[in-house]
Amino acid sequence: MATELKVQHVTENSFDIARQQLRAACEALNLPSGVYEILKEPARVYVVSIPVKMDSGEVKTFIGYRAQHTDVTGPTKGGIRFHPNVTLDEVKALSMWMTMKCNLVGLPYGGAKGGVVVNPKKLSQRELEQLSRGYIRAIVDAIGPDRDIPAPDVYTNAQVMGWMMDEYSKLAGCCSPGVITGKPLAVGGSLGRNEATARGCVFTVREAAAKLGLDLSQATAIIQGFGNAGSVAARLLNELGVTIVGVSDSQGAVYNPAGLDPYALAEHKAATGSVKGFAGGTDVDGDGLLEMPCDILVPAALENVITAGNAERIQARIVAEAANGPTTPEADEILFRRGVTVIPDILANAGGVTVSYFEWVQNRMHFYWTEEEVNQRLERMMVEAFCKTYEMSREKQVNMRLAAYMVSLDRIAKAMAARGWI
Ligand code: GLU
Repeated sequence: MATELKVQHVTENSFDIARQQLRAACEALNLPSGVYEILKEPARVYVVSIPVKMDSGEVKTFIGYRAQHTDVTGPTKGGIRFHPNVTLDEVKALSMWMTMKCNLVGLPYGGAKGGVVVNPKKLSQRELEQLSRGYIRAIVDAIGPDRDIPAPDVYTNAQVMGWMMDEYSKLAGCCSPGVITGKPLAVGGSLGRNEATARGCVFTVREAAAKLGLDLSQATAIIQGFGNAGSVAARLLNELGVTIVGVSDSQGAVYNPAGLDPYALAEHKAATGSVKGFAGGTDVDGDGLLEMPCDILVPAALENVITAGNAERIQARIVAEAANGPTTPEADEILFRRGVTVIPDILANAGGVTVSYFEWVQNRMHFYWTEEEVNQRLERMMVEAFCKTYEMSREKQVNMRLAAYMVSLDRIAKAMAARGWI
């Protein structure tokens, strides 16, 4: 398994971008100024230090964050990422995007996000477990099934959620599965949660393709990022007849105009740690991959990859943001002008938190659903959110991102008014 992550130089500040998007939508809806005033900062931010006794016997301290953006529409909700480049501003931006996402889909949550500055690929399993438990100990008073409910994000997974749920339960003195989602099935996880982000994304691609008259059985796609969201999206798109022509990860990229087999590619990545060197394609430059010919581009990794520097050269007709924040506002404008349909992150990747919500509901009911039930409910909610966004974009003649924010903020503003906040 590869241990090095390519350190990306992020010039754009995600929190500035998130605020800019928020302000534009508040203005477009002509909302009372209190809405922006309340939402421009997260309600609470925690910065914690997490000492871990490493396998060497040495103690190392990691920095962790948790931002709770607003609880106006319910307890806060959002994932935890483990990544060497995590910053407080990034976590704050991600928490704001979670508020927008939950309210776009109509979930009874506000947004939150957590992060730990670490390269988890360099930790042993024991060290990873200690770090995960230490993070929960550090924020235990801030979370809870009715307070703030974490989940997986970049480089965290079901096993990490299992450890975190266990640590919280021990400290709470009772088994508390509803404190965290994305858990292993054996401890209250939901069927379909693992695939949910990608499945939701593919539902939105299907809807967008229908509006554009794009026949998916003749279409091609490029996936940037081959983690949980990207690898499953490749498989599900392939099942709809889409040819996957290019895939990248943090180590490199592969391309094959005749099509890449997503299953064989996943096996190759599991064995070698990367998609590069895959025999079924040719190695290409990861950044250049975004600009290669395709109908559907799925950024499924980190923020700020589609920028003013490459947006003119993107050839896709649909950009489906499985990642959070992959497109900068300048790039958004360029893509809109060029007629590229961007399915914004808060819509395209909302399937993950939607099935997290289902998981939480099942935990609280102690009654578990079939995978079919989960997927059907997910489809209904994703299609509804897509239609509302699409109609808003048509009615107001704005791009899909602004439209999605407007749908979401309308609901948030109503909750604020009902609670007497504005
Ligand atoms: N990390 C995912 C997101 O960005 C899922 C969050 C959740 O399930 O709470 O939407």
